[in-house]
Amino acid sequence: MRALYPGSFDPLTLGHLDLIERASSLFEGVVVAVLRNPLKTPAFSLEQRLHQIRQATGHLQGVEVGSFEGLTVSFAQQQRTEVILRGLRAMSDFEYELQIAHTNKSLAPDVETLFLATAVHHSFLSSSVVREVARFGGDVSHLVPTGVADDLTRLFNRMNSSQNRNG
Ligand code: ADP
Repeated sequence: MRALYPGSFDPLTLGHLDLIERASSLFEGVVVAVLRNPLKTPAFSLEQRLHQIRQATGHLQGVEVGSFEGLTVSFAQQQRTEVILRGLRAMSDFEYELQIAHTNKSLAPDVETLFLATAVHHSFLSSSVVREVARFGGDVSHLVPTGVADDLTRLFNRMNSSQNRNG
């Protein structure tokens, strides 16, 4: 069986990576797919996020990386992934995720949603928390893969120096 793991991954964290590693030992194949959402302006471009994920998952068998726009279930059907995989960190994730899972089931009864519980030591971790810590110069090396930590440093150095120039 193959699984689709969709998300924004802006940027990829060690919580995401832990989920991908565990999924890769449970499924024959895992497609990690970055959602191209025209309504959101991400911190990292699509190309950067794809590069971050490819770099961090290169050691894993059967993991493919791609992107999609539109309905997740349509992409799952197109990719022939029978399962959509999502991570659950806390009860606060649950209500939203259940609503999406039910909606997806109503749209595509052949596609199942499966939830993996986050690793307990990553349960506080989100892309937005990582961006916030990095923005104020905090150390994120224990929260994200090395390549992502470097990208965050570059991003916020660039933003800070352009702010200093303009103000
Ligand atoms: P989205 O905008 O689709 O929620 P995210 O990149 O924030 O995209 O999350 C993608 C998936 O990864 C979601 O299922 C989310 O619950 C899960 N996830 C996010 N952070 C973690 C974490 N620390 N541990 C495990 N799963 C996580």
